[in-house]
Amino acid sequence: MKVLKFGGTSVGTPERMRHVASLVRESGRNIVVLSAMSGTTNSLVEISDYLHKHNVPGAQETVNSLRQKYASVVDELYSHKNSKQRATEYLDRIFNFILRFTEGEFGLAEEKEILAQGELISTMLMQLYFEEIGVKSVLLPALEYMRITREGEPDMKFISSHLRRMVEIEPDAEVWLTQGYICRNDRGEVDNLRRGGSDYSASIIGAVLNLDEIQIWTDIDGMHTGDPRFVNNTRPVSRLHFEEAAELAYFGAKILHPTCVLPAKLHNIPVRLLNTLEPSAQGTTIANFAPDGTVKAVAAKDNVTAIKIKSGRMLLAYGFLHKVFEIFDNYHTAIDLMATSEVGVTVTIDDTRHLADIVDELKRFGTVSVDTDMTIICIVGDFAWDNGHDYCCQAVEALKPIPVRMISYGGSNYNISMLIKASDKVEALNLLNNKLF
Ligand code: ADP
Ligand code: ASP
Ligand code: MG
Repeated sequence: MKVLKFGGTSVGTPERMRHVASLVRESGRNIVVLSAMSGTTNSLVEISDYLHKHNVPGAQETVNSLRQKYASVVDELYSHKNSKQRATEYLDRIFNFILRFTEGEFGLAEEKEILAQGELISTMLMQLYFEEIGVKSVLLPALEYMRITREGEPDMKFISSHLRRMVEIEPDAEVWLTQGYICRNDRGEVDNLRRGGSDYSASIIGAVLNLDEIQIWTDIDGMHTGDPRFVNNTRPVSRLHFEEAAELAYFGAKILHPTCVLPAKLHNIPVRLLNTLEPSAQGTTIANFAPDGTVKAVAAKDNVTAIKIKSGRMLLAYGFLHKVFEIFDNYHTAIDLMATSEVGVTVTIDDTRHLADIVDELKRFGTVSVDTDMTIICIVGDFAWDNGHDYCCQAVEALKPIPVRMISYGGSNYNISMLIKASDKVEALNLLNNKLF
């Protein structure tokens, strides 16, 4: 058995939903995870923003346009009057539920209730469609089995026992359908796995049920050598190691949510990235093995801030870095890259909520300077230092016209990272793609 996750664009129109239904039907008895239809979660975020700002007409207007959008989805998706009526009644309940938040207090917990509606809608619409075409689909409500702990990590034991039971009591199902992204937290409130988190849902489900494969179906034929939104002439990569995929996802390859790799890797379950619009394309397989000694892809992470601490006083003396890291630790701020020398250390962060306090405290140890609007370019492949590759050299050569603020290599065998100005990103990505692939 496999888990198949279909992203927002894959279920973005009635036509695509029908197409997904036929792919699912052909794939055998599997678990299917759906995202919200594309654009819906963004609209729900917008509604929540209006409600946080006490702008009730703004929220009502956005709810009304969603209502209209879904009215035409219902009209196009179903042939039977009965399905149309049931879907309409369901949507009315959802939109009335959202509108009730225009009265009373509105905080984070209420926002999360609203954000959960997109996946609840897409799965209910698909479930009704399966019923209409005679597929025996069982809807597994994610809010009954997907749970995160107080630390925000998936509660694997709880998920495993609950999901297993829910799957087992329906032995005749042809397909099990469930929501990505949404979950409950340790207090039992509705929560989510962060934006793009449906990939994570699929990976957690694959891991707890020990399935044969985790398939992420999206709008492109696998992980490409570069981000096709910015780079010309990219091509799909057929195989990636888990570690390579983790680096690419973390450093900006949007096709895969960064958290999604770990559960698959720990349970050694292959992840396949497949194209809903071109199902016969090979896509990318992520597993415990991949071609050695080759460069696979380049990703870019935006909104990076570099902080340099310079000191004449034996900067790298014993205990110094510990003190520096402790400050970041105290503010729960993760460091992505670092470079050190005898007189200075530079680290990069992407969470700048506590930047002012961090800088203030670092000033006790030396002169501090900050570069904002930076981008990390991350070149990924099998770069073991002793395998004779010259990818470092090629990457530096490719970036000759671009000022490079910092380089990091050797932290793992899988990545070479360079820090550049955000405004140089597109040029850098294209130069690297031309040189390396
Ligand atoms: P979904 O809605 O299915 O979750 P996403 O939009 O999250 O899809 O991810 C797919 C998109 O990721 C692609 O359309 C593409 O624009 C973007 N992307 C960024 N980097 C890459 C890459 N290296 N390879 C493939 N796609 C990438
Ligand atoms: N619908 C959610 C989002 O847009 C989750 C997902 O698509 O993975 O972020
Ligand atoms: Mg996604």
